Parts: sequence; C-alpha cells; structure tokens
Amino acid sequence: MLENIRVVLVNTSHPGNIGGAARAMKNMGLSRLVLVDPLDFPSHEADARASGASDVLEGAQVVGTLEEALVGCNLVLGTSARDRRIPWPLLDPRECGQKSVEEAGQGGQIALVFGREYAGLTNEELQRCHYHVHIPSNPDFSSLNLAAAVQVLSYEVRMAWLAAEGQPSKVEKQEVNSVRSADLATADEMESYFGHLEQTLVAIGFLNPEQPKHLMARLRRLYGRSSVNRSEMSILRGILTETQKVARGDAHKRKD
Ligand code: SAH
Repeated sequence: MLENIRVVLVNTSHPGNIGGAARAMKNMGLSRLVLVDPLDFPSHEADARASGASDVLEGAQVVGTLEEALVGCNLVLGTSARDRRIPWPLLDPRECGQKSVEEAGQGGQIALVFGREYAGLTNEELQRCHYHVHIPSNPDFSSLNLAAAVQVLSYEVRMAWLAAEGQPSKVEKQEVNSVRSADLATADEMESYFGHLEQTLVAIGFLNPEQPKHLMARLRRLYGRSSVNRSEMSILRGILTETQKVARGDAHKRKD
C-alpha cells in the first residue's frame, strides 16, 4: 500500500537533500521518489547522504515537469513552509498521513510534493494540489530543511499506516510497560514488606519510633503508586535484609 505513495521533489538544488530525503523515506517504508528537473543528479553527494537508501535513489524517476510527475495521481498534497500563501484546503501533517494512507489503501495513487530549497513551490504548482500541508513550525523560522520536511511527512504516513495495519507503534516490553495483575505483590506481601521496612528504618536510626511523623504513611503512598511486582518485591526485601545485617555489624563478620 505504501508503494502507492510517491514523494515528488521539485527542482532540488542540493543533491545532499535528495539523498537525505531518500533515506528519510526508506526509514519510514516509502520507496517511490520522483525528481522534477533536479539541478545535480545523480551525484556522489546524494549517494553519500542516502546512506543505505541508495536503492531508493536508483529507482528514482527523473522527469522534466511537475505534470509528468503527477501522471496517474488521484490525490496531490503540496507542502508549504509558509502558512496560507493562497487560501486552499489545508491539512496538518497528521491529517496528511491519515488521508494518504486511507486513499492509498483504496488503491489511490498519492503524491506528496515538496518545493525548492530557496523558493518553495510556485503558486501555480500549489494550485495543482488538492490540499496544502504545513508543518506547524515556529512562525518566526518556519522553513525546515527539505529532507527534514520529507522526514516529518513520511513519519506521519508511517504512523497512520501502522495504525491502519493494526500494528503497534511501540515495541512493548511486557515487564516494563505493563505489570500483569497476577504478578503484582499482594496486599499481605506489601504489609509484611512495610513491617520489615519499618524495623529496618528504626534499626538504622532513620525512623524514631517515638516521633514517627507520618513517615510510614508517606512511604505507603509512594509504594502504592508504584505497582510493585513480585520480583521487585524480593529485591526490596533483599536490600532490607542486607541493610539490617550492616546495622547489626554482621556484614563484616560475613566477609571475614
Ligand atoms: N523559502 C522557501 C522554503 C522552502 S523549504 C519558502 O518559503 O517557501 C523547501 C521545501 O521544504 C518547501 O517547499 C516544502 O516542500 C518543505 N518545507 C519546509 N518547511 C516546511 C513546513 N514548515 N511545512 C511544510 N513543508 C515545509
């Protein structure tokens, strides 16, 4: 489905930007690059900046006009560094990703069109687009490097594609992100831990039993927020046991 989405670069002057764009695309799973009258292509600099994405450069289609680049396209999205040069239906990058993936999923051919480094797209070129896309950058410094702009939109396409495919956008580590309920320390285990903690804090002189000042209540609140699981509980218990040994002076004896 991503092969239905092409990236069109118009009149690019710096070959390094073509290479950077190819790399950005490949990172995000896009492969179709169309170059409209590039100033310097093919070139070593483009290859160098593409890094491992030279296949995208080798497969790039070079054409003379934007019209040729858009042959067969059902949806054309033109990017602009400036907000609302001409009043036109506008999408933000997220909407652009979603719309592209939605249409590509139905077999549509999509073009994401990027302008010249120094002058962007002309008004005439922008008027060939169904929608304009503006990356909401700092209004006082709104123009991104061309390859960086390609990266942002390619990323949004990927996020929308992952969502459409039902694939997770993050690699979940079960133990880190979600503690299964059955693995959580139980209320009685927590109670006996708090008892152990209190004894230890008294033993090392941190808690004065005559003046406890709500310390245990605060610690209970802290642990209560932490979803402690069983293996973490056994680490905590181990630390307390060793701390008690040190407090009693056993640690030295053991080492001797
Ligand atoms: N001086 C030009 C800047 C062009 S930057 C101008 O003002 O139009 C080169 C290309 O990168 C732009 O044509 C556009 O395709 C893309 N780009 C840069 N910043 C962008 C932004 N904030 N939103 C969308 N596209 C942007």
